[in-house]
Amino acid sequence: MAENITNKTKGKPVNNKSNTIRSVLFAVVLVFLGAFLISNMSYNKVQKTEVPISEVITRANDPEGDIARIAVTGNTLDITLKGKDQPTETSRKDNSGTLYDQGLVNHCEDLEGEELTKCQESYPIIEYKEDVDAWGIVLDVALTVLPIVAIVIFFSWMMKQANMANNQSLGFGKSKARLYGPDKKKVTFKDVAGNEAAKQDLTEIVDFLKSPKKYEKLGAKIPRGVLLAGEPGTGKTLMARAVAGEANVPFFSISGSEFAEMFVGVGASRVRDLFSKAKKNAPSIIFIDEIDAVAHKRDARGGAGREDEQTLNQILVEMDGFDNDSGVIVMAATNRVDMLDKALLRPGRFDRHVNVTLPERKDRLEILKVHFKGKPVSEDVDLESLAKKTAGSSGADLANIANEAAITAAREGHKAISNKDLTEAFERVAIGPERKSKVMNDMEKKITAYHEAGHAIVGHVLPDSDPVHKITIIPRGNTGGVTWFLPPEDRSYKNIFELKDILARGMGGRVAEKLIFGTDAITTGASSDLKNVAELAKSMVVEEGMGENTRNLVFPDEATGYYTITAGKPYSEKTAEIIDAEIKKLSDEAAKRAEEVLKTNKKLLDKLAGELLAHETLEENDLGPLLKEAKLPIAAKLH
Ligand code: ADP
Ligand code: ZN
Ligand code: MG
Repeated sequence: MAENITNKTKGKPVNNKSNTIRSVLFAVVLVFLGAFLISNMSYNKVQKTEVPISEVITRANDPEGDIARIAVTGNTLDITLKGKDQPTETSRKDNSGTLYDQGLVNHCEDLEGEELTKCQESYPIIEYKEDVDAWGIVLDVALTVLPIVAIVIFFSWMMKQANMANNQSLGFGKSKARLYGPDKKKVTFKDVAGNEAAKQDLTEIVDFLKSPKKYEKLGAKIPRGVLLAGEPGTGKTLMARAVAGEANVPFFSISGSEFAEMFVGVGASRVRDLFSKAKKNAPSIIFIDEIDAVAHKRDARGGAGREDEQTLNQILVEMDGFDNDSGVIVMAATNRVDMLDKALLRPGRFDRHVNVTLPERKDRLEILKVHFKGKPVSEDVDLESLAKKTAGSSGADLANIANEAAITAAREGHKAISNKDLTEAFERVAIGPERKSKVMNDMEKKITAYHEAGHAIVGHVLPDSDPVHKITIIPRGNTGGVTWFLPPEDRSYKNIFELKDILARGMGGRVAEKLIFGTDAITTGASSDLKNVAELAKSMVVEEGMGENTRNLVFPDEATGYYTITAGKPYSEKTAEIIDAEIKKLSDEAAKRAEEVLKTNKKLLDKLAGELLAHETLEENDLGPLLKEAKLPIAAKLH
């Protein structure tokens, strides 16, 4: 039963399927072309002579005539002579009536057996064929070609499996870089909402790409590498494309994760190819997305990174080899600057850093506007309140909500997106789809109601917690119920009191269950709460120096990314024990405070759980009057 929505894990998108698909498609097209040429050649081998229709009819009606067979397809007649096995003549019917009207009589009609055979020795066999349209031919070709395609696909799969090293001769070393030339669908700064600071920084790059001479004349050193740093989904890729769009120059892009799946030695040759293409098309932009995938710190890689190392070295070599006036700017994006090899960040390489940040409320509104532009929305849609609710969401999350809202509206058969669709989309993206079909028995429902009421009351009462926005016991995603807390405004920092209140309200669910149903009734419904509490408590001690006996001391380890070592902890077993004790102290304290609050407000807990069972969902408006009577016991106070 999740308790808050602001901490989501954001997965790193890895896009590597599309390239395989592209090469397979390419192979298919090649095979089709080949098959088409071959079939055309064989058709044209026998040249047919065209004869007038009147002559054909005369010859066909002559028992001594030389025609053995006439095949009629639409208006075309293919004529096979006696003693031949292929048509050698052709003719066209004119539009005055049927062939029969024009005198082409089937003399052998209605005959059978010997009589028929005898007749066919004198008169031609006349057969009418279906008019095969162009698509029929395509279909025919496709049916012939399909097995070949299957073989081609099978072979390319085999080659991949075999991990063939002989790459150059097969062209695997060619860069898969996608080119977004000036004529492709252009992205400009207008498509990137918010992030004014980053746009400001990049305007200079745009200006250089537009008029390099201006800078050269003054002997200015041109920036060579620009590193876009920021969390996933903040619009780094979008921003890089916008720079290319603004400057109207070609954009060569490749993703670090694509290097990762390459054959041995291919990464480096891709890089070479990429840079030479970009130089030929200068002024231009090279964009290496997710560069951390190849350029992580060498010591962090362990033994498995030789291929990456070659790729990284090649990038460095190419960047060092640039003339000052090459007119190529290399941009790269990463979620993890701290993980990058320092060699990349040296002067002359990626020495310009542009931070792309999570959007603030005002920017979230702008991003939502960008993504709702062109979608029909009804009057009641309130983007401002959505912007307010989505603290911590990235641009990609917001784009996703906009899309989900449109999908929801379409599914519901609405003509325009309503505010309800919007709310549904928001919650769906934040937690997962509603699962009304998931059956909970009455006891489970009751436990869930007390659990969520517990979160809500503890969160409401504690002075440094965010206000309760909504409670529901309708299952959603993996949760049985949800209590949402929403910060009244965006904040960059949290103090220790706020964090301790988050720990306590996280414990509120489990504590309420225990209070009402007894120790033995503890359910599995609180596991994600406990995990969140444990993680937060750990980071408070290890990263923020908030342990009571370890105040102002931090304990970096591999997971926190401060430093990276290959084995063991960078501190002693004794220190580890102290850390564990500090973490336990925080979570015990949280449980204790939650218990104090809920014991003091036992009557309210019953009432709120009852309301939840009756209504399933309670919004801010319903909650206000209910929670008014909540009291803060002295024992739960921190300051
Ligand atoms: P990143 O590369 O930082 O992970 P992307 O550039 O791939 O993020 O962003 C993913 C999508 O999110 C974009 O295609 C866009 O639809 C949306 N998006 C992200 N940031 C913004 C923004 N500032 N303005 C408009 N849309 C954005
Ligand atoms: Zn919970
Ligand atoms: Mg990206």
